[in-house]
Amino acid sequence: MNNTLSSQAYNSALQLMPGGVNSPVRSFKCIGIPPVFIKKAFGSTLKDIDGNRYIDFCLSWGVSILGHAHPEIKQAVHEAVENGSSYGAPTLLETELASLIVKSTPSVEKVRLVSSGTEAVMSAIRLARAYTKRDIIIKFDGGYHGHSDMLLVKAGSGLAGETSTSSQGVPDQVVNHTVSIPFNDTNALHEVFKKYSRNIAAVILEPVPANMGVVLPQEGFLETIRRITRQYGSLLIFDEVITGFRFCFGGVQKLLGVEPDITTFGKIIGGGFPVGAYGASKEIMSLIAPEGPVYQAGTLSGNPVAVSAGIATLKLLSDEVIYSEIAQKSSRFFEKLQAIANKNSLQLNVFRNMFTLYFSKDKVNDFASAQKADHSAFAKFYIELLKEGIYLSPSGYEANFISLAHTEEELERTVKKINLYAGAKKSHNNQNNK
Ligand SMILES: *Cc1c(COP(=O)(O)O)cnc(C)c1O
Repeated sequence: MNNTLSSQAYNSALQLMPGGVNSPVRSFKCIGIPPVFIKKAFGSTLKDIDGNRYIDFCLSWGVSILGHAHPEIKQAVHEAVENGSSYGAPTLLETELASLIVKSTPSVEKVRLVSSGTEAVMSAIRLARAYTKRDIIIKFDGGYHGHSDMLLVKAGSGLAGETSTSSQGVPDQVVNHTVSIPFNDTNALHEVFKKYSRNIAAVILEPVPANMGVVLPQEGFLETIRRITRQYGSLLIFDEVITGFRFCFGGVQKLLGVEPDITTFGKIIGGGFPVGAYGASKEIMSLIAPEGPVYQAGTLSGNPVAVSAGIATLKLLSDEVIYSEIAQKSSRFFEKLQAIANKNSLQLNVFRNMFTLYFSKDKVNDFASAQKADHSAFAKFYIELLKEGIYLSPSGYEANFISLAHTEEELERTVKKINLYAGAKKSHNNQNNK
């Protein structure tokens, strides 16, 4: 693998941007090599500026579920941009995207479009606090909900590899109202409700966490959260920025059979453009300005080009055949990966079409167990796969995704390469916590 141009590009970028990037995990900090700079992408393939090609399992962190540069999304964007790219005034497009989201997810009767997942979650928290007239937010260790102040407590994703679990620059008074407890820990949940009881505005979680790597909710855990939030009059917020429209047309809540009070979306719903959304019942959403007293606004909210990409994406996804095709491909692929994991005492965590391979002999069902995995072994494994033209999400705390565009041949090739490197590169100490 020749990466001369990427290395040069990285050095130039380092002079001008912190860490050379505009979002931390992209820097490959967890991997310990310079990142590859991408020139273009098509279908399931990324091409870097040195001309190397990769089968992409990061897919812009799950965004590109239909594959990169999908013709119908491209066409929608071209048509939209011909008409000007921002008006700061209402359009029919926004109503169309809102209607697709509302139709998809029964707990969402009204929706507000924003420009990122962070913004969606931040606004959902404000809404929950206003609705309940309470302050305390419960989250789970390793859950990532964007970079707003109050949620940078024991956060996953790019913060997961850090020794300090929250960010500097966040006043104590702000995070004092955020309590983080271990995922899948029913006792901790009961304890925290006993302690803060009717001061708890909301519990926020990724219903299937994907930012400490993929972790599955244990049997009954989501139902318990639903029950206890109702009992105490707190709201339940499902952060579906990754899971929304990833496994079915709508929130994963439809598959799990647990309905939150507020849902946040992002990633997939923008079709590769910056779109987020939060939605809830009409009653809860009526608090949002200009209808109600909760202020939230955005110059580029509902941007016509971004929303056109979102509409094109959701229209395609409304054909459930797409999901079953991805599911079938994924389950054949995961069956083979599971055999490799078993052979090498690794943990393969899978939900439908996303997965994380943990270099851990013990089961991973929360943030603490994800941290115990051998992340330096993962980094070595990662580098070998990259050299072989396989681009995973560049951290052992991230999810990988299958898209409609991945071919059986590509998945087969990936299985072979993973088989080759999953065992060979394990370091002697499986418990070293790097
Ligand atoms: C990516 C992500 C966010 C943040 O979205 P941005 O668009 O990056 O601001 C929030 N919550 C979850 C679950 C995410 O995966």
